[in-house]
Amino acid sequence: MEINISGKTKLAGLFAQPAGHSISPAIHTAAFAAMGIDAVYLSFDISPEKLAEAVETIRIFQMLGVNLSYPHKKAVMPYLDELSPAAELIGAVNTIVNQAGHLVGYNTDGLGFMKSLYEKGFKKNQRLTIIGTGGAANAIIAQAALDGVAEIAVFNRKGTDFQQKTERLREIQQRTDGKIALYDLADIKKLNEKISESAALINATTLGMTPEINRSPLNDYSSITSELIVCDLIYQPRETLFLKEARQNGATTMNGLNMLLYQAAFAFELWTGQEMPVEVIRPIIEK
Ligand code: NAP
Repeated sequence: MEINISGKTKLAGLFAQPAGHSISPAIHTAAFAAMGIDAVYLSFDISPEKLAEAVETIRIFQMLGVNLSYPHKKAVMPYLDELSPAAELIGAVNTIVNQAGHLVGYNTDGLGFMKSLYEKGFKKNQRLTIIGTGGAANAIIAQAALDGVAEIAVFNRKGTDFQQKTERLREIQQRTDGKIALYDLADIKKLNEKISESAALINATTLGMTPEINRSPLNDYSSITSELIVCDLIYQPRETLFLKEARQNGATTMNGLNMLLYQAAFAFELWTGQEMPVEVIRPIIEK
């Protein structure tokens, strides 16, 4: 692919630490080129102490905007001029849009995941069960609640911060009129009951990710049937043990690649006002 840099080429980028392993520069630079947009996307390794100065460079360099990844998604919030309702509710920003020096924070992680779930046939009047309460789960739970999903059953192991997590989810529930409850992942009876009532089941834990590929958040797959859409946010490996077992039970399965693709597509659209050509980008991500 030919990339032409001119004196007017605009810049977008990623602020993260580490930033070097990211696939985002390949995704966005290919999308800019495919759409004939004179822009490039670069990764910047930014330490937490340098974050405030890095945010200022978005204005100084008149960048289109940036993505944020670990460890900046929460820490960046005080430096922005405005937050989208979803970013405020989630309590994290993964995309900054530079509107002539006015920096607006968005969160496209939940949007990206929910779009991929709807594509698999999930309907808002159905219920979903999600395992995990980390950053990715939080974005999905908040977006699903904003979308008006009928019921969101959340399961997590019961650590010392379980009460804090319960309160956090209650706050999302109150602010969205959603129906959300947190349960102990060790309560297998409740887990099977909620899976049976749900149209979708999501693994938003790190269990099953390379190199720990023999781990799964489930031991009992008896409530997984062909009626269920089963998703893993993990995309390395492409099929986790959790997804393999679900597929063998006849479920429709989906790994985390679509979420990765669509969160990028939403950011691209926010920066350029144009739709990302996802079918051009999908092979890049799959490779
Ligand atoms: P995170 O904030 O660290 O959260 C990890 C979650 O996994 C927490 O709920 C944690 O429970 C749970 N967990 C970890 N070890 C566990 C164990 N041994 N037993 C039970 N639960 C366990 O991570 P994250 O950023 O939300 O990411 C979660 C997953 O999503 C990762 O695999 C990540 O690669 C993937 N992800 C994918 C995309 C995408 O675009 N596809 C985007 C973001 C993330 P505790 O709270 O009890 O520790």
